[in-house]
Amino acid sequence: MNTQVDTINFTNKSHSFALPECIVKCSATTFLTSIFTTTLIALGASANALQVQINPPNPKLGDTLSAIINVDSSSSSSVPRVTQGGKTYPAFKIAPNTYRVFIPTTPLQRSGKRTIRVMAGGEQRNLLVQVGWRRFSVQRITLRGNKAGLRATAYELKRVRELKALKTPQKFWNGSFLRPSRGRVSTIYGVRRYYNGKFAKNYYHRGVDYAARSGSPIIAPAAGRVVLVGKVSQGFRVHGNTVGLDHGHGVVSIFLHLKRINVKEGDIVKAGQLIGGVGSTGASTGPHLHWGLYVNGQAVDPVPWRFDGVK
Ligand SMILES: [Zn+2]
Repeated sequence: MNTQVDTINFTNKSHSFALPECIVKCSATTFLTSIFTTTLIALGASANALQVQINPPNPKLGDTLSAIINVDSSSSSSVPRVTQGGKTYPAFKIAPNTYRVFIPTTPLQRSGKRTIRVMAGGEQRNLLVQVGWRRFSVQRITLRGNKAGLRATAYELKRVRELKALKTPQKFWNGSFLRPSRGRVSTIYGVRRYYNGKFAKNYYHRGVDYAARSGSPIIAPAAGRVVLVGKVSQGFRVHGNTVGLDHGHGVVSIFLHLKRINVKEGDIVKAGQLIGGVGSTGASTGPHLHWGLYVNGQAVDPVPWRFDGVK
C-alpha cells in the first residue's frame, strides 16, 4: 500500500522519439542497427574505433538500458557523449577505454523505437533500440480523512530531488541487488492508479512495496553511501522517515515510511547491512517498505537489478 507519495514532483517529458537520421540519410559515420538483432553492436567503417553494446537485448518499459561503449585507445581522452530523446546521459569509465551509460525507461513513455546517439573521438553512432510495450495493472485507491490532505513540505521535496539528481562517478554496487525486506511484495513497480475515482496520468508506482511487520529489518540492497536521512520531525510529512542511498553512476535507492533508521548521512553501507525498520510513517496506510530505484532521475523497475544484475 502506498498513497500519493509517488505522485509528487515528477514529470516525464520523454514522449517524443526522433527517428534516426540514417533512415533518410546515411553518412559514413552513422550505423543503423537492425531492430531484430538481440545484441546491438555498432561497428564503424574504420576498424572498430567506436563500439557500442546495449543491454538488455529485448527491453520493455521500466527496464534500464545499459550502453557499454568502447572507444579507440587513441581517442580515449574524450568521454563519450550520449543523448536520447533530447536528453544527455552521463558516461562513466568502467575499464580502460570503456564507458557505461544508463538510460532509464518508464511506464509513462511510449513503447517503440528510439535512437541512442553516441559521440566520441569525433565519431558518432546512432543506435536504434526497440523498447517493448508492457502492460501495467491498475489500482483504485480511496484516500480518506487527513491522509488525502497530506501535502509534502518544501524541505522533503528538495532533499528527495537532490537525491535523484546525483550522478556520482564512484561505483559502489557490484552484482545483483538484494531484496531489502523479507515481507511479501504487496505492490509491484509500475502500477497505474485512480485516486478517489480520478486517473492519475502522471502517476506510476515508482518502486516496489513490501508488506512487513512493523519494525522488521530493512537491509541495503546494494552497497552505497547514505546521502539522505529524512525524519518526520524534520518535515518528511509525506515520505515519512526516509533513507536515501547513493549507489553511484546515477543510481540511487530511496526507502520510505520507516519506523526506525539505523544509519546516518555519510555512512558507507555494504549490501545486506541493516539500515532501518519497516514502519507506516508519512502517507502510508499500514506497515510497509516502499523501495524506489532511480536511474538518472527516473524510477525504474528494480526487478532486473535484483535478478539479472545490471552490469
Ligand atoms: Zn510504494
